[in-house]
Amino acid sequence: MKQAANCKMCARPIVVEIDDDYAKLGDPFRLIKLATCDRCYDLRIRRQNIEDAIYRACLGIIQAGIKPNKPTKPGEEPKTPAEKARFKESEDALKVLVTLTQAYALLASDWCNRSGMIWDEALPAAILEKPKFWRVILEDYWKTFNRVRREEQQEMATA
Ligand SMILES: [Zn+2]
Repeated sequence: MKQAANCKMCARPIVVEIDDDYAKLGDPFRLIKLATCDRCYDLRIRRQNIEDAIYRACLGIIQAGIKPNKPTKPGEEPKTPAEKARFKESEDALKVLVTLTQAYALLASDWCNRSGMIWDEALPAAILEKPKFWRVILEDYWKTFNRVRREEQQEMATA
């Protein structure tokens, strides 16, 4: 059976195709409530993939005991091989987090049909500082993102 419905995420009208066997089994309207359009489905998968990658990166950071590099003044560069190794480890971890958080920021914008991304260096730095709290940090990111979006929309409305 085919049934008209709305995407549960963006409310766009969609047509849900339900296997007749399933429809016979139970309440097909329960499925309809869970239906998303292809675009939202893809975005959700993309978000999940990036979040998984951030989770794995954080796990690696925690297991290796990597800490953020403290700001170094001239003449305060790491000296011993061990210091240099720690420094490089931290730089590398930060680079990974920069890439992943930028992918995440792009996703957030794509989700709202916004061009560009809302991102700054504080985001990967915060995750490197507190890798256990990556999920909370990403939730905070969404709050910031939504606030900036609202401000943009207000500006457009008054312009
Ligand atoms: Zn949708």
